[in-house]
Amino acid sequence: LAPRIDVVSIFPGYLDALDLSLVGKARESGLVDIAVHDLRDVTTDRHRTVDDSPFGGGAGMVMRPDVWWSAIEATGRRPARAGATVAGASTEGVDADPREVVLLVPTPSGARLTQPDAHALAREASAGDVRYVLACGRYEGIDARVTERAAGDPTIRRVQEFSIGDYVLNGGEVAALVLLEAVVRLLPGVLGNPESIAEESFEGDGILEYPVYTRPALWEGLAVPEVLTSGNHGAVERWRRERALERTARRRPDLLPPLTVTELSRRDLAA
Ligand code: SAM
Repeated sequence: LAPRIDVVSIFPGYLDALDLSLVGKARESGLVDIAVHDLRDVTTDRHRTVDDSPFGGGAGMVMRPDVWWSAIEATGRRPARAGATVAGASTEGVDADPREVVLLVPTPSGARLTQPDAHALAREASAGDVRYVLACGRYEGIDARVTERAAGDPTIRRVQEFSIGDYVLNGGEVAALVLLEAVVRLLPGVLGNPESIAEESFEGDGILEYPVYTRPALWEGLAVPEVLTSGNHGAVERWRRERALERTARRRPDLLPPLTVTELSRRDLAA
């Protein structure tokens, strides 16, 4: 079974980008199975209501727990016949997906998503015994009892609340796209050259990547660093390593501890 990810949102159109580029190709070739659902499909009232005012007062609206729970449960039901719709369907004529669920919830109050998290999710997804449900909130967020209920459910392995950075978006859709793009490219077979991953920022010892150049060698009076056209692979490698360390020290010193620049360089010299 390909890794399965169900995305639930009141704006499924936001997720249309999942048809494009690497993720789109990965879906087309069956390397990953992503389904997008409209949260409103599980509502039963005429207005297809998904929110209500917050208990305790205050501005904005909160997403209802009962609606979200129905939507999460509906993702586990696959149509027994191809082409039949899942959302809002009864359990009749559908097969339950046996895999354990990992509920992924984008929220500014979650742990900041990192490259090691993306690797961990890609590894877990490839192992084949879980499926993911991505719950995209809107308004003031989802009633807190949904994650509480999910954490106590025997069919749910884990609830993982994640943030994509210290700012507030209008909804979880963009955060879901960020997580999907970060994870899908790490799934086996998705990148043409898997070695390109090892070279990137936040990989290996977790520092930033060196600057990159291509033709023309001279452009707008700016020349490509000479070493890159020297054909000396050892020199190129050393130059790239130095630039990566320098850049990281300048822009993201937080990525360096516990290894200092001097320690890293010394280790390079010893190698
Ligand atoms: N009231 C919430 C707070 O202050 O923490 C913010 C709600 S925000 C307007 C609506 C939704 O956008 C959230 O439920 C979440 O799904 C998503 N969201 C906003 N910022 C995010 C971030 N930095 N990372 C991940 N998701 C985010």
